[in-house]
Amino acid sequence: MSFQVFGVPVSGGVAIGRAMLVASSRVDVAHYFIDESRIESEIERLRGARNTVASELTALQRAMPSEAPPELSALLDVHLMLLHDDMLSSATRQWISERHYNAEWALSAQLEVLARQFDEMQDEYLRERKADVEQVVERLLRALARAPSLVGSAAHGARDFGGEDPLVLVANDIAPADMLHFKGSVFTGFITDVGGRTSHTAIVARGLDIPAVVGTREASRLIRQDDWVVIDGDAGVVVVNPSPIVLEEYRFRQRQIGLERESLSRLRHTPAVTLDGERIELLANIEQPADAAAALQAGAVGVGLFRSEFMFMNRAGDLPDEDEQFEAYREAVEAMHGLPVTIRTIDVGADKPLDRMSISELRHEHALNPAMGLRAIRWSLSEPVMFRQQLRAILRASAHGKVRLLVPMLAHPREIRLTFDAIARAKQQLADANRAFSEIEVGAMIEVPAAAIILPVFLRHFDFIAIGTNDLIQYTLAIDRADETVAHLYDPWHPAVLQLIAGTIAQARAINKSVCVCGEMAGDTDFTELLLAMGLRSFSMHPSQIASVKQRILRADTRQLAEKLEAILASDAPGAAYAEALRAAACTSQVRAAGSAVGA
Ligand code: PEP
Ligand code: MG
Repeated sequence: MSFQVFGVPVSGGVAIGRAMLVASSRVDVAHYFIDESRIESEIERLRGARNTVASELTALQRAMPSEAPPELSALLDVHLMLLHDDMLSSATRQWISERHYNAEWALSAQLEVLARQFDEMQDEYLRERKADVEQVVERLLRALARAPSLVGSAAHGARDFGGEDPLVLVANDIAPADMLHFKGSVFTGFITDVGGRTSHTAIVARGLDIPAVVGTREASRLIRQDDWVVIDGDAGVVVVNPSPIVLEEYRFRQRQIGLERESLSRLRHTPAVTLDGERIELLANIEQPADAAAALQAGAVGVGLFRSEFMFMNRAGDLPDEDEQFEAYREAVEAMHGLPVTIRTIDVGADKPLDRMSISELRHEHALNPAMGLRAIRWSLSEPVMFRQQLRAILRASAHGKVRLLVPMLAHPREIRLTFDAIARAKQQLADANRAFSEIEVGAMIEVPAAAIILPVFLRHFDFIAIGTNDLIQYTLAIDRADETVAHLYDPWHPAVLQLIAGTIAQARAINKSVCVCGEMAGDTDFTELLLAMGLRSFSMHPSQIASVKQRILRADTRQLAEKLEAILASDAPGAAYAEALRAAACTSQVRAAGSAVGA
């Protein structure tokens, strides 16, 4: 049956593939295709894991003390029975032999199928057996981890289907750090039930440059394993089991988008200069040192935001020490070959917990609002030893290239003072230890309205300013950016938001202080001319967005819209006023072009 699911569009383009349902807790399972020649050995791996688990369960049963309740032994019997049941063992083998999935992936795919069947059972006792199947699969996955495949890694067979059907991932939610696992993976698109346009999972998905729709609320319940799915990442629509005509229509659009991207990529080495000669700096947002290559490839002239927190996430408390951090920062700095790298100090908290947790789990476990809690600089200042460790690592990297330090979420003058105290102490410690570092510029993110309102205080202390529009919108409008139920109210066009951004840019420019926008608005072509009109000359975005923003810049005249800026900002409906101003500007350009053609 064909049907549609609607959500929040977060990454454009069209993806067509078979649905791969993955439980949020199992997204870190390796997903890769195996060659025809390895099928038998992969099935053998699975068999080996099953024998190991069978021995574990039997040993547990034998070791059971006589006074133990009889239910416990009966439970182990149930687990042994499930382990050997065809619905688990032969069906999993089938995913390996027919689809060429690696054993871990095959197991989690089959678990999803079974979980559905259990959920739909009327009988409560039987429904509860789902937890037993999950436990057995968990044991099997652990046994497989102890006998890793000789061929595989998550990156193996990346998007090279070798005749396989392409796959799109469907999950209730994916934690931001888990999303990073999917860089270059087998998936060609993503669908999640929760999340908003600027939730960090959505931001990372956008960075992967594959179509994604989030906040669908129930896609993972409605879509079945293996259904054919079309993701329209521009409209935020998911078409499940499309008719041949609809499918052909989307295939056509897919080809068109491919051609457009190809022609855009030719702008890579073209300097970003407007029609009236204003040179614009286009920088990249990265999450890992390895992303620096994509930044250069896209023609970025530096890194405007290195979200260092991804290095700290999902490590079960084992945080990277100073040397490990230093190596990572140095890798990014050296990869940029002398171009500036802006490293932001750790911004954990809110929807980026240190340990693996999806948004749903966060909401469940933290009834209090984590976005307003101990996050970013607040967390760093509460962990002074860790903070100084990070500062020392960043400072040491500055001996290897041009590094800038950026501090997130500042709001209080006191936080500014404590931050500079920490930097001074970190420098002193390095000097005492005879460690090399350079004098680096220090910048503040303006992402809390309080900071935008008392901007002169920030301008007095910092060398540069970076506007984090994602959080600035969230905190100005009191809308949780990760909450799909209020996603419609998360409005970058709100006059209050635009006034705060315009005011920040104007005040920084008035005293010649460098100001950049590094939130998602910078990479959204709907805002390019508006930000230029506000006076912005530095944009930082995901590498994949640079070409299309540059195309808009090459066609823009900053003077035209600047005249209308005041009226747009004063309007009740700035979006409509801006669209009207853009139309008028396009007409004027056409008339001028026609005039000069006649005069020639
Ligand atoms: C922002 O808030 O706009 C920003 C760039 O930081 P992050 O998205 O990581 O919170
Ligand atoms: Mg932010």
